[in-house]
Amino acid sequence: MRYTYGRALFWVGLYVLLSAVPLGIALAGTVPEARAFWIEFGVALGFIALAMFGLQLLFSGRFAWIAPTFGMDNLLHYHRETGIVAMVFALAHPVILMLAEPEFLAYLDPTVNFLRALFLSLVTVAILLIIASSLCRLSFKLNYEWWRLLHGALSLFIVLVGIGHSVQVSHYLEPLWKQGAIVLVMGAAMYLVFHTRIVRPWLSRKKPYRLTGIKEEIPRRWTMTVEAQDFKRMEFVPGQFAWITVGDTPFSLQQHPFSFASSARERTIRFTTKEVGDFTESWKHMKPGMKVFLEGPFGSFTPKPDSHLFLVMGGIGVTPAMSMLRTLRDDQDSRHAILLYANVTAGDILFREELEELRKTLHLDVVYLLEDPPDDWDGETGRVTQELLEKYLPTKSGEYTYFTCGPEPMMDVVEISLRNLGIDWRRIYTERFEIV
Ligand SMILES: Cc1cc2nc3c(=O)[nH]c(=O)nc-3n(C[C@H](O)[C@H](O)[C@H](O)COP(=O)(O)OP(=O)(O)OC[C@H]3O[C@@H](n4cnc5c(N)ncnc54)[C@H](O)[C@@H]3O)c2cc1C
Repeated sequence: MRYTYGRALFWVGLYVLLSAVPLGIALAGTVPEARAFWIEFGVALGFIALAMFGLQLLFSGRFAWIAPTFGMDNLLHYHRETGIVAMVFALAHPVILMLAEPEFLAYLDPTVNFLRALFLSLVTVAILLIIASSLCRLSFKLNYEWWRLLHGALSLFIVLVGIGHSVQVSHYLEPLWKQGAIVLVMGAAMYLVFHTRIVRPWLSRKKPYRLTGIKEEIPRRWTMTVEAQDFKRMEFVPGQFAWITVGDTPFSLQQHPFSFASSARERTIRFTTKEVGDFTESWKHMKPGMKVFLEGPFGSFTPKPDSHLFLVMGGIGVTPAMSMLRTLRDDQDSRHAILLYANVTAGDILFREELEELRKTLHLDVVYLLEDPPDDWDGETGRVTQELLEKYLPTKSGEYTYFTCGPEPMMDVVEISLRNLGIDWRRIYTERFEIV
């Protein structure tokens, strides 16, 4: 996948257009007489916020046809930033209206309309809760699975109350067709959640993969091998990832993203993990024969057919690189690949023997980097720095695509340093495993 200005403009343009759809419906046909500027401005913010909440459901990273355009990282950043703007608009909507016209305070008065006051108060709490739980999940010690469930439920509630509120007020939605149009458009956005959480798992329940092996590569790093049963296995491009659920049903809170580690040409699919929490720690207890459900493939962390590879990976972040290198081997692809592989100790290096084998068969240079090297270490030492990247940067740097995956601080250094070294941003691809 290529990043281009054209694609970026198209999607940003589409986003702006879609965020104006409810406002467009409100302004279509005959409209009531205009009130004071700030009242109309506050109302417009409400319609835009409603649309943006709906769009959050589309830009959630669960639609493969959107994710490849931007990359999962960028998409989730975008989801986060636009989510904050949507919340600000949603909260500004009542504040501006009440400041412009104190009569609007009656919307929160239970003696005037109990249900309306109740739901508008609840939705305000929901907006504050979604902001707090997203920004401070780790401080709240909220585990990822429960946060995801809460996030989805609150988002749906906010959109639902937003639809109800706009229809109930109906100042701009007087004719029935306008109300129907709002319900239809926002209902379509809500269907996206239903589709990803219910329809997709329901369809995938008939296509369980079978776990055929669990192997400990090095302490606390496990490789799972799965095989499609009586159906063609999912096609993927090296560098992509899938959402995994293990167990008898695909309906589980425990659904986690993992990069494909195996070659895209192999019959079986392999994933490798590092134990970090409840799900990844459960791999060592998994038994062959268990069912595994895969959703995907997703992601645009993928090599272009005509470009050499410069891979800067840290720790478990080497998994997508392994898929790329193993696929190059199976395709007998002779392009040049440089792998800078950073770890803390020599014992943390994954797939070392295989990398040495690949070095013999591929046009591959592997540079190991250790923070805490043994006495007889003859590789690089320390952390990834701009100087290190510059040392290994190929002379014809414009013919390479740059991939980085690993700990966040390492990736930040790599992204900034490569830009400082004159690499075009459209050639730099990142895959962040930590979604905080
Ligand atoms: C695109 C992508 C590819 C990944 N590929 C790999 C891989 O090849 N190998 C590997 O070991 N890890 C990979 N990860 C990370 C892996 O998904 C998490 O380590 C795993 O979900 C942790 O689950 P847990 O229950 O063991 O830990 P938890 O205790 O639940 O979480 C530990 C931390 O992991 C992150 N995390 C947890 N659940 C998720 C989730 N569903 N989505 C995203 N992040 C989560 C959170 O930051 C959390 O704080 C990848 C992540 C992403 C986003």
